[in-house]
Amino acid sequence: MGNELESLNSISSMENLKKKAFDCEWCSLRKGCLGVVFGEGDANTDLMFVGEAPGRSEDEQRRPFVGAAGQLLDKILTAADIDREEIYITNTVKCRPQENRFPQPEEQKACFPWLVRQVQLIEPKIIVCLGSLATKTILGPESKVTKMRGEVFRRKGINIIPTFHPAALLRDSRKKYPVWEDIQMIRDKYRALT
Ligand code: SF4
Repeated sequence: MGNELESLNSISSMENLKKKAFDCEWCSLRKGCLGVVFGEGDANTDLMFVGEAPGRSEDEQRRPFVGAAGQLLDKILTAADIDREEIYITNTVKCRPQENRFPQPEEQKACFPWLVRQVQLIEPKIIVCLGSLATKTILGPESKVTKMRGEVFRRKGINIIPTFHPAALLRDSRKKYPVWEDIQMIRDKYRALT
């Protein structure tokens, strides 16, 4: 990752980082998708959400979390009185894996510098890991969202909070209440910052 991350270090604005990402071909996912889904939101926010990878709707619109799972996330955020425009939202892997398969380890590794640089530029106080991949990528490969959700982990001065991915709630409605509990706690921590 060293050389790739170094190549991003001189980029000091999110807009320029986004422009550079559009040309990325660091892994083979770029050949199978329509475009890079970089992320969106307030680049000066204290609250950042990180998901897994774009799906079909996200790939078509080049925006994160706009499909069914994204619409559910929007409802949860609205219910918690969090405006999507006041947060920054992205994925661990920025290009859609074909057939929505899970990103391979080499693809996760290739894409990691983009996420690292996004975090360096935003300097969030809270990062919410949505689902297993974001949790493992940010908190380490042994991390399990099922065991760690709703807890706060400090890394480099940032509060990292895993919770289930909204797509998991669409498959298993029993996960809805735990996520609602987590989001309320996240909201309270976030509001307490200001
Ligand atoms: S998934 Fe990430 S590393 Fe791979 S081509 Fe897309 S932006 Fe580049």
